[in-house]
Amino acid sequence: MGMSLPGLRSRANAIAALPPLGLLTLGALTPPDWDVTLHESPAVTDDLVQEILNDHPEVVAISALTASILDAYELCDRLRAEGLLVVLGGLHVTACPEEAMLHGDAVVIGDGEVVWTDVLRDAERGRLRERYQNTRPFELGAAPLPRYDLLGRATRPRYTVQTSRGCPFACEFCGASRLLGAFRTKPAERIGEELDAIKAIDPHATIELADDNTFALGGAHDELLDVLGASGLKWFTECDWRLGENPQVLVRLADAGCVQVLVGIESLVHEASGMGAKRASIARMMDGVRAIQDAGVCVIGCFIIGCDGETHESIDRLRAFLLDDPCGDVQLTLQTPFPGTGLRRRLEHSGRLLADRDWSHHTLFDVTYQPDAMGVDELQSAFNGLLGDVFDRVGHDRRRSIRRALWERHPSLRRETT
Ligand code: SF4
Repeated sequence: MGMSLPGLRSRANAIAALPPLGLLTLGALTPPDWDVTLHESPAVTDDLVQEILNDHPEVVAISALTASILDAYELCDRLRAEGLLVVLGGLHVTACPEEAMLHGDAVVIGDGEVVWTDVLRDAERGRLRERYQNTRPFELGAAPLPRYDLLGRATRPRYTVQTSRGCPFACEFCGASRLLGAFRTKPAERIGEELDAIKAIDPHATIELADDNTFALGGAHDELLDVLGASGLKWFTECDWRLGENPQVLVRLADAGCVQVLVGIESLVHEASGMGAKRASIARMMDGVRAIQDAGVCVIGCFIIGCDGETHESIDRLRAFLLDDPCGDVQLTLQTPFPGTGLRRRLEHSGRLLADRDWSHHTLFDVTYQPDAMGVDELQSAFNGLLGDVFDRVGHDRRRSIRRALWERHPSLRRETT
């Protein structure tokens, strides 16, 4: 249902087409005497398996998010049945290594950059271990230039560049902040090299910063904004509402090419633990949203539905709020207990995870646990109804007109219409 609604469909398509930055980075760390090929697929098909087999690989590295991890396991099983060595990594595998070890010859836990050459060396010697775990977080100053050339010749709607990894906060529902280790930033000159490489592929590329919370540390971020602005490219990122109280960044944001920021407003009824300085009243957060948009940058306000305390009445209040809110776009998802999060541990401990919902239900659009104040079907149906109302043609057109008004003033976007 979500994918059929205007507004959601275009965002979903853009996400699906994002380059797999982790694999492109491992490609760059692979010694030059290895050949590297990249395969991307939304499903495991006979054609995909055959394409991989046709490459005669000595090692296959597979990464997948939680909602598609069962597909990844199926692919592992099929490739291993053909005699190939399969290594699994990524966020889900880092959170669930024992489960992943049932399907891969080896699993990589944590930052893959630290151990990747060990994996290849051991594979060459026929001594692949079951687990590889980084003993220290990867220093982003040592990040290689991702192998963007592996993406082929077709240009992408968006290209990913990582300027920081992790987040200093620890919101209960968020896995990225805990699984990725301490918050780290990448030196501006490395970011500039990546932007130059992308521009060589597509001079008009749009960049999605693969960060969890770009401006989390506050301050001016002059070097980052300098290098992004000098690229002349448009970019999008995720941050928290406090950007709206950071005049040093706001005054430069649009001129540096920033077009949109995704900001977690989270919930009208529940404050998750671990939010740190991000915790604030809705009124203060919405003032932050207005300040960002006054600076010419569209805010996608993210709301999580189904937190403890959610009821029909609170969902009705959110509906009324969203029919008149200032955000140029909104994202509505169901709270989802991803592996490795405090939320999952809490719900598991209290026996609230639904036994009949496997990882494939962790889509952000499916109820996966027993809500505390509603039935499972009740919450699902209220959420679906909310999506239908908020993303109907009227809501879509209202938010589009907010974006148009913003972007008519935007230095990089004056000719764009949506
Ligand atoms: S602020 Fe955002 S990135 Fe940081 S822990 Fe919270 S949800 Fe995760």
